[in-house]
Amino acid sequence: MTQTIAFIGLGNMGGGMAANLLKNGYAVRAFDLSDEALARAEGHGAVRAASAADAATGADAVVTMLPAGTHVEAVYTGEIFGAATPGALFLDCSTIDVATARRVSEAAVAAGFAMVDAPVSGGIAAANGGTLTFMVGGTDAAFDSARPILSAMGKAVIHAGGAGNGQAAKICNNMLLGATMVATCETFAMARKLGLDPQTFYDISSVSSGQSWSMTSYCPVPGVGPQTPADNGYQGGFAVGLMLKDLKLASAAAASVGASVPMGNAAEALYQMLANQGEAARDFSLMIEMLEGK
Ligand code: NAD
Repeated sequence: MTQTIAFIGLGNMGGGMAANLLKNGYAVRAFDLSDEALARAEGHGAVRAASAADAATGADAVVTMLPAGTHVEAVYTGEIFGAATPGALFLDCSTIDVATARRVSEAAVAAGFAMVDAPVSGGIAAANGGTLTFMVGGTDAAFDSARPILSAMGKAVIHAGGAGNGQAAKICNNMLLGATMVATCETFAMARKLGLDPQTFYDISSVSSGQSWSMTSYCPVPGVGPQTPADNGYQGGFAVGLMLKDLKLASAAAASVGASVPMGNAAEALYQMLANQGEAARDFSLMIEMLEGK
């Protein structure tokens, strides 16, 4: 029998994810505060719901892809818990703070539902192409139920442990990415000042011990390495504002467990400066221009 998924939050990421569920044979009941987002989802074959509660009514599972923890908590506790069928599975794919993820999951379980936090790695292109990576927190049973739904939207689905561990994995990964991107940018800026051609430095460092994903898969220097947002005026890609959001989540999580993250904190301060310069919408590898004083 066709499984019905309530999909809440059909923005840049959720729109493509819901379209992939439809392509893989699921029925989708969609809700978003934006009429435009809902119209796009209808165009892909989703049924428009009048509210999050309406979408969840009678659905086998609920997927949320919302901006932040406040939205996630309000939608689940305010609407979905009261409307969903007992035993329904909840999958929150938004990137939110670990504490809220754990609190909402506990409340879901107490109300008779199963829940996983399943944030994603990969941007809008991966959401549209169905090639996201999901990092999943929840019980073994909840993970097993969630896996086929997540596989319809992604290429990798990895169980990270209990509730909240998906969010923990996501912010640890992105803190590492933020710090390596800053380090890669400042190094290219210094190399240039020391008289090294960026391509030559890339050829050396990409096969030496300074190599990282930020260098060889996402080089911040235009014309060097593979095609990246740097080759397109730092448009598209992963926005400075989203990197800043993840770094703030990482420092809050670090503080909550007393972890020392000086590199993460430095990356957060630098991305805040870039955002303050009005660059929140451009790609995060734009950091190189700020460090070069451009
Ligand atoms: P977005 O702003 O494009 O989409 C969010 C959608 O949620 C919007 O359409 C908005 O109208 C809707 N919404 C907000 N409150 C709602 C409510 N109460 N009820 C129903 N709909 C509501 O954001 P996005 O880029 O799609 O990101 C979604 C999540 O995915 C975020 O947590 C983000 O951090 C994470 N993420 C984004 C990317 C990316 O590249 N954009 C990559 C990885 C993870």
